[in-house]
Amino acid sequence: MMFATQSLLLFLFRMVLTTHCVVVDAGHGGDHDAGATLGTIKEKTLTLTMANELREQLLQQLPHYQVVMPRGTDRDVSLGERIRFANQHDCEAFISLHVNSSRNAQLSGIETFYLDTFKSRFQQRLRETFMRIEGHRLSVTDLIARELEIKTVTQQSGELAVRMLKTVHRELASEYAGVRINSVKRDIFELLLGVRMPAILVEAGYLSNENDRQRLQNTHYRHLLEKAMALAVKEFLQPSLSKMQ
Ligand SMILES: [Zn+2]
Repeated sequence: MMFATQSLLLFLFRMVLTTHCVVVDAGHGGDHDAGATLGTIKEKTLTLTMANELREQLLQQLPHYQVVMPRGTDRDVSLGERIRFANQHDCEAFISLHVNSSRNAQLSGIETFYLDTFKSRFQQRLRETFMRIEGHRLSVTDLIARELEIKTVTQQSGELAVRMLKTVHRELASEYAGVRINSVKRDIFELLLGVRMPAILVEAGYLSNENDRQRLQNTHYRHLLEKAMALAVKEFLQPSLSKMQ
């Protein structure tokens, strides 16, 4: 009991002393990349609204954390800028917000993505991304080191991707029983290749699906979803502390 109290105090002490942060990335933006659009509804606008709202929720759930955003307005931000921004801040989690669209209007629901390190072009894409972001080639030794680092971080990204869907399901189920929670998916997005921290992409729903579209435009639904997302990040970053509450 004594040791438990001491280690809890030490943990809290470290938490206050160190600067912690989470990156919330509003997908797309600016004049050249609106993302998915349906009539007057644009993905870039929705992701910015959601990013600002998620930021507020995270600040409430994680008072010792800073929340930083590659864009806080409607402006063009390249993938390289987003990656460099995140890595400079050296945060503990990276959440990129998106909304989906499909020709099949029946498709609906929330899904999360994290990096697929098993794809056949993984090494080549890693080299290309590094070259684009850093402006020089990765040496063979650096490539091996980077691959090892990515595989460790990717495991954590996977945990965050799973946690996000579980918590959203838990928090939304009572009020929005019809919300579809899709599976966690893996892909080789450049953004996820370049960011050097646990990183996921959230597709918060389908603009092409009427139910999802109405919900995403509904402030009450969005707040519930964003609160659940913030709780998921908290449970991922502070698993022992979350269990105590
Ligand atoms: Zn998108």
